[in-house]
Amino acid sequence: MFNALVVEKDEETGKTSAGVKQIGEDDLPGAEVLVAVDYSTVNYKDGLCIGPGGGLVRHYPHVPGIDFAGTVEASDDDRYKPGDRVVLTGWRVGEAHWGGYAQKARVKADWLVPLPDGLDSRTAMAVGTAGLTAMLSVMALEDHGLDKNRGPVLVTGAAGGVGSVATAILAHLGYAVAGVTGRPETADYLKGLGATTIVPREELTELTRKPLESESWAGCVDAVGGAMLGRVLKQMKYGTSVAAVGLAGGAAIEGALITPFILRGVNLLGIDSVMQPYANRLRAWERIASDLPRDKLDAMIQPATLSDLPDLGAAILKGQVKGRVVVDVN
Ligand code: NDP
Repeated sequence: MFNALVVEKDEETGKTSAGVKQIGEDDLPGAEVLVAVDYSTVNYKDGLCIGPGGGLVRHYPHVPGIDFAGTVEASDDDRYKPGDRVVLTGWRVGEAHWGGYAQKARVKADWLVPLPDGLDSRTAMAVGTAGLTAMLSVMALEDHGLDKNRGPVLVTGAAGGVGSVATAILAHLGYAVAGVTGRPETADYLKGLGATTIVPREELTELTRKPLESESWAGCVDAVGGAMLGRVLKQMKYGTSVAAVGLAGGAAIEGALITPFILRGVNLLGIDSVMQPYANRLRAWERIASDLPRDKLDAMIQPATLSDLPDLGAAILKGQVKGRVVVDVN
């Protein structure tokens, strides 16, 4: 038997509750690879799945945790053998399939990525889905001509998980980074990660009817969406790109117009980490190993255990988590 955070649903009231319980290997879903989990983390989606699920969880009882890192314990697939160190993000694990908030997980071999040399499982979960997505965003911006000589790159939701990692990577690569935050008290933290300028959230959330604003940004990693994305698009420099990652501030692009696209050739690049092809995942994890400074990552870490998760899940939905939570499931 081993520990897991189990979310249960009361069929009469429809309410869900989450708590640490003992489960066995026979309870785990069927798949090829059994992994002894070392660490997991807390993402926005985890907040939804620890609570009522937001439509993501199909069946209860449920073990959330959309990502984890650990060691293969048993495998029916030739690609993995006991002792291999692996990381998993995406593929709807922790939503449709039981996830990483347990000491063991059983998953498909196709969903795993071998941990690159130089990354241990704790570091991998300090990065987690949020950090992988930040790296995928930077790679997409680079593929579309991101240029250090064109001025600052904007990162929205900068003190959150995606934003913190994006800030550290971009600063390490030599870009000037402007971090947008609604929490002024995180300014020193963001500067420590390498942000050169702090932009107060209110400056970018007011709707405007202007078709374009003055050209300010050489690129953008946007974790917020909503009115902020509508404004940011109008402020992009000619021919530059925005990587749209998240919707922490709203699922619609409020106040958006076509003008930035047809008058300034601005690109809006969609970033999805969940179904990302294997080759690109490998490339992103290797880039993380080389381009994300470890001291910056350490500065983002908030340690936690399985029993902290109900509170942390509620906090991340309110935008109150700073940086990256690393959950020691053991
Ligand atoms: P976090 O909660 O850690 O970060 C989100 C940040 O956004 C907050 O810390 C806050 O930053 C800012 N924010 C929150 N609410 C608002 C608001 N109402 N208006 C403006 N800013 C707000 O979450 P993650 O970094 O893990 O994820 C960020 C987003 O990216 C989520 O929407 C998530 O679902 C999405 N995501 C998408 C992925 C993909 O594959 N496309 C993968 C991973 C995440 P601050 O306090 O600095 O203002």
